Amino acid sequence: MTTGKINVSVENIFPLIKKFLYSDHEIFLRELVSNATDATLKLKHLTSIGEAKVEYGNPIIEVKIDKEGKKLHLIDQGIGMTAEEVEKYINQVAFSGAEEFLEKYKDSAKDSGIIGHFGLGFYSAFMVAEKVEIITKSYKDEPAAHWTCDGSPEFTLVPHDKTDRGTEIILHIAEDSLEFLEEFKIRELLTKYNKFMPVPIKFGTRKEALPKPEDAGDDYKTEYIDVDNIINNPSPAWTKQPVDLTDEDYKNFYRELYPMQFDEPLFNIHLNVDYPFNLTGILYFPKLDANLQVQKDKIQLYQNQVFVTDNVEGIVPEFLVMLRGVIDSPDIPLNVSRSYLQADGNVKKISNYITRKVADKLKSLFNENREDFESKWNDIKIVLEYGMLSEPKFYEKAGDFVLYPTVDGKFYTLAELKEAISANQTDKNGKLVVLYASNKDAQHSYIEIAREKGYEVLILDSPIVSHLIQKLESDNENLTFTRVDSDHIDKLIQKEDTQISKLSEEESTQLKTVLEKIVPKTNYTVQLEAMDSQAAPFMITQPEFMRRMKEMSQTGGGGMFGMGNFPEMYNLVVNTNSDLATTILNTSDKSAQESLVKQALDLAKISQGLLKGEELTAFVKRSFELIK
Ligand code: ADP
Repeated sequence: MTTGKINVSVENIFPLIKKFLYSDHEIFLRELVSNATDATLKLKHLTSIGEAKVEYGNPIIEVKIDKEGKKLHLIDQGIGMTAEEVEKYINQVAFSGAEEFLEKYKDSAKDSGIIGHFGLGFYSAFMVAEKVEIITKSYKDEPAAHWTCDGSPEFTLVPHDKTDRGTEIILHIAEDSLEFLEEFKIRELLTKYNKFMPVPIKFGTRKEALPKPEDAGDDYKTEYIDVDNIINNPSPAWTKQPVDLTDEDYKNFYRELYPMQFDEPLFNIHLNVDYPFNLTGILYFPKLDANLQVQKDKIQLYQNQVFVTDNVEGIVPEFLVMLRGVIDSPDIPLNVSRSYLQADGNVKKISNYITRKVADKLKSLFNENREDFESKWNDIKIVLEYGMLSEPKFYEKAGDFVLYPTVDGKFYTLAELKEAISANQTDKNGKLVVLYASNKDAQHSYIEIAREKGYEVLILDSPIVSHLIQKLESDNENLTFTRVDSDHIDKLIQKEDTQISKLSEEESTQLKTVLEKIVPKTNYTVQLEAMDSQAAPFMITQPEFMRRMKEMSQTGGGGMFGMGNFPEMYNLVVNTNSDLATTILNTSDKSAQESLVKQALDLAKISQGLLKGEELTAFVKRSFELIK
């Protein structure tokens, strides 16, 4: 038996590269600028340790378009290569590596979304060029070399008379890639991928005004000179130490990142860790508005100051995708699929680190200036509440800074809230009752009733609040949340002095029969209560459990308990001690009695914001009848 390896020989690497990397041709520029940057930084290192005995100076990288010649030039002043090094680094990788290349990219080509996240290196030049030249002069005392290749395994390598140190890459742009000879296109790509790379990148020139001479007369005309147009900021804020940055620096950097964004960030979080993984970055809490979808995907991911992507799913915990800013880490594997990314241990650590940093920052903001933190609460609560629900590590820390605002403008932490209501807000089982409203206007009359009794009422109005409440209840056995309109207040909060009904049992049954004849059964359950005679005679309530389950099924919960299509069910609570109850009972004229009940029901509906359309019209008409 003979075993062996089939030898894949690649005759022409050029069509191969095009075939496998069809989707993201533009990344060639990022790769070549990265190589030029590496070459420059290598020289910097060698001069700093005394190995290269040359002047480092102020090297730049230049990108130049030659439209007529259909060429794109990339010129650096880095370490350069000797002819021998070109052989070694360019030729060998190019041709002996072809099989490996095939192997490496065959799976990824299926998922075009991740192409372009690889370090393709020099080779990506052939995605847009039909011929590539390298003219390079090493910092070592050796002659320059000139390499030329049209993508076939044949290349030429000859000496060149270049005398200044560094490398020039010349791309002969292919006919199907002529867009890369357009100035706006190259500018766009440099701005997208290279905006914060560490070596200055020159692209063209710009006019700069000369200072006005001291002796210039009134007729002085401003003079301009051409200066290098540097398109990048080589030392962006996230690469600096937090102690060296002011608030203004952080805000300026935000504007640099999002020139089209006019709002100010609420605060920032500087990330900086080098063990067990390397990560730097700055995250900003923006002011969020109602349209959350469009505000996603604003965080940019970099690797050593090279832009990679603005899809940070899996790296940044999901609840923080609304944040903005940058993350820079060489330790995030990019040549893998998203599902792999989520399973990667390092990535999980990074995500946990970010969660912890965000929680720590929130805690310190809260401790340093509580008033300021409270004033920002409305803008940040949705992110924090979502974080509590989705990230157990965040939930653990949330007690230190998550706030529960009241309708009176007070802000409690959970511990403070428990303390504040412990004296007089308990139910018949002895549990603490947290009263809340979701809308100050819609539930106004119910809020008022609770406030008159001296109870605290929270205002909880995020769309996911029902889920959060559910979680808080299950983790705090002694706590129960109920909306102010979920029942009569004296039933929600157990008072010792229960009222005695003015009506006899027989009268009660009679009243109930009358009411049930008139009030539509499909939506209302009549409930007689003996209450304080001053309390509202008719009142509509909706049981907490029903309403909450319904809300939860609407905001993700997957139609929990099949409640998605439940009809709206309410209780009509009638105060048997009210004068109106007696009047209804004693009115012998059937139609007058019906009018009274309908009128009272409509008034209760108005309090709940339920009276609309036809019913509202009928109410107005009936009211005019009654007062004429
Ligand atoms: P990588 O950058 O991942 O090593 P490349 O294919 O991009 O792979 O480059 C191969 C090698 O060629 C580099 O490691 C470097 O030694 C050399 N090289 C590429 N571009 C330059 C340049 N502009 N100046 C000096 N050397 C370069």
